[in-house]
Order: sequence, then structure tokens, then C-alpha cells
Amino acid sequence: MQEARATAGIHHVTAITGAPQPLHAFMTRTLGQRMVKRTVNFDDPGTWHLYYGDAQGRPGTIMTHFPYPGAAAGRQGSGQASAVAYAVPRGVLGDWRRRLETDGHPVRASERFGDTVLSFEDPHGQPMEFVAVDGTGNAPGGFHSVTLWVDDPEPTARVLTETFGYEAAGTETGTDGTRLRLSVPGDAHGVILDILHRDDAPRARPGVGTIHHVAFRASDDDMQQSIREALQSAGHRVTPQIDRQYFRSIYFREPGGVLFEVATDPPGFTVDEPETSLGGSLKLPPQHEHLRERLVASLPPLEPA
Ligand code: ZN
Repeated sequence: MQEARATAGIHHVTAITGAPQPLHAFMTRTLGQRMVKRTVNFDDPGTWHLYYGDAQGRPGTIMTHFPYPGAAAGRQGSGQASAVAYAVPRGVLGDWRRRLETDGHPVRASERFGDTVLSFEDPHGQPMEFVAVDGTGNAPGGFHSVTLWVDDPEPTARVLTETFGYEAAGTETGTDGTRLRLSVPGDAHGVILDILHRDDAPRARPGVGTIHHVAFRASDDDMQQSIREALQSAGHRVTPQIDRQYFRSIYFREPGGVLFEVATDPPGFTVDEPETSLGGSLKLPPQHEHLRERLVASLPPLEPA
């Protein structure tokens, strides 16, 4: 039963951002990510929902954004996910540092669990990280980890270990607080979660430059249903399954305040356009297709970078 519920790690991370054009240039030109879907926020179709990932749009590589141009900045603090880290081969980390700094993104280097970490911000202040890993290649090709910042790590850790199959992988105290590291077995992208805690932490405030939610992978509907039942029997309030066109999702707020989603791997981003043209044109789910003309006229401008 436990085995059936083990996630393979992070599916995607979704952030609230400002004007879409600088974000798009940063994600594609600076970070070398591919836009794998150009659509709208299904719950607020007047707003873009932009997906960036590897060339195939695989789970564990997907960073998504809800752009709200001109909206107020949020605040990093406890009660939300505070950073997304991409895995970058150790041999090219220095090149990436220079590239970020050349593009106007100051970089701070530190050590975490023995690995070099580069911390920087996207154009709207969203904290992002590169973590040096073994391997070849020259680009950030997927997530290394996500940091959750909470007041009390224990209840958050319990959900992750008892329901999602995470295992404790160490603790470390650094300048930003104490990290409890959890991981799931396997070699997928994004198998690590850090739960960060420190005394007198500010409370997070949602807004531009903050992470809205973190989505975990479910291999199929049955596994998602099994997770849903386990969460409900542990007393969590979980939404019914919602069709997100590229995956099917359930949502709940974990005890530390972070919004969690469980998203199915299928059907994936090629359900409505071939892999060769992912992200090439505005895609709308059937319930919003009748709005296309109005949306094309009203969505904030977004040209290919
Ligand atoms: Zn999501």
C-alpha cells in the first residue's frame, strides 16, 4: 500500500510573476528552458499560464507562471515554498554563474549538504537556485529540489513521509535556518525536498515573486486516488480531481501552509500539439475555447523571446 503511494518526486512548481515578457526572456534565453505550453489560467482565463521545461516537457522539469503585470510583490517567509533549484552539472556551474551575472542577475554561492549552490532571482524577484551535481551536459535540465519554508517542520515532514513515500536524508543548519532534507528513491528529476525552518521567520505573503504551489507526481489516476484516500483518512481536506488538460490534479494545503498538488503524469503536454511545436501557439481547454478571440485581444503581449 505504501509502495503504491510513493511519488516519483516533483511534477511542477507554479509561481506568481509580473509582466510576462521579461519572465519569458529570462526562462528561455537566460536559463535555456523551452516554453512547452502557452495557455491561460483555467481558473482565471484572462491571465496567462506559461509552462517552461526541458525539450520534451517532462515532469520534474516544469516551472509554470501566472503573470499578473503590475500586481504587488509578495514576501518570502514561512508558509510557502521559498525556492526552486535546478540541477546543473558541476563542470559548467562557473559558466552559468557568469551568464547569470552578465544578464544582470547577481549570484550568491554557498554550500548545502556538501554541494555548491548558486542563489539568484528571476526578473520579478522569485528566488531560484542552481545546485551542482555529477553529470555531463551543459544546461539545467530539470529540478534538483524545492525548499519549503515552514514554522514547524514535523507535521509537514509527516505528510511527506507517511503519504508520499519520502525518506529523511539529513539535516543541516546554515545561515538561512535549519534544513530537514527528504528524498524519494529513484533517478527522476526533483526527488529532493528541503524543509527549512528558523525561529522568528517572517510570515510569507503571496504576490509577485512567490511560489503559488508545488505539484507532486502520480503515475496514474489509481495512484492519485490512493494518495487522496490516505490524505483524507489523515484528516486533510483534499479537492476532488480537476482536469488540467495536461494532467489531472488534486489539491490540499499541508499543515505548514504550503499549497500542494498531486498531478498525474498522463496525458502530458503533447495531448494538444506535437513535441516539435510545443509552446508555439495559444492552447485553450475545451471549456475556454469560445473565449479565444477575446483572450487573444486582451492577454498581455507576449512575443517569442
Ligand atoms: Zn499546478
